[in-house]
Amino acid sequence: MSNVDFARAYSLNMEIREDRFDPTMLQLARHVSTEGNCARRYVGAVIVRNGEVISTGANGVAPEFSNCIEAGCPRCVSGGSLGIGYDLCICIHAEQKAVTNAARDGISVEGGTMYVNLRPCLNCLVVAHNAGIKRLFYEEGWSYPPDIEKVYQGLSSAFEVFGQRSECVPGAPPPRV
Ligand SMILES: [Zn+2]
Ligand SMILES: [Zn+2]
Repeated sequence: MSNVDFARAYSLNMEIREDRFDPTMLQLARHVSTEGNCARRYVGAVIVRNGEVISTGANGVAPEFSNCIEAGCPRCVSGGSLGIGYDLCICIHAEQKAVTNAARDGISVEGGTMYVNLRPCLNCLVVAHNAGIKRLFYEEGWSYPPDIEKVYQGLSSAFEVFGQRSECVPGAPPPRV
């Protein structure tokens, strides 16, 4: 079963209450993150349009490798701090993977909502915005140094909604639905 099929079954079976929809999708993003194979971090993204999951993605490299270090990622081998050195990273980010998975399937993400278990990087923000994502929610927060953070804030204001939802941070009990 593909991630999207799983996600559809998951959301249909749960009959999610409207006020629990965003936290539940974030929980799903965290579930999807476990499919990633970046040795540094598990990140998952879910794209929803009209209340339906249309794409998912996890970070990492092609599945023939057990992880990105085995695949020779220059950045992840040397530590991989958040927000730094992505130009030397061969791991696709979960947000970009979700957008490219949709592209492969010929599905437009225009007008969609993206859920990620980690605050997106600057590049992912640009990609999500240009793909037509209108709302973006993330779970775990982090920030850039002040000068870059200012640019980040400016770009994030291009979304209709952009923000952190912390109801289901890692380690917290799953939200009641
Ligand atoms: Zn990696
Ligand atoms: Zn990113």
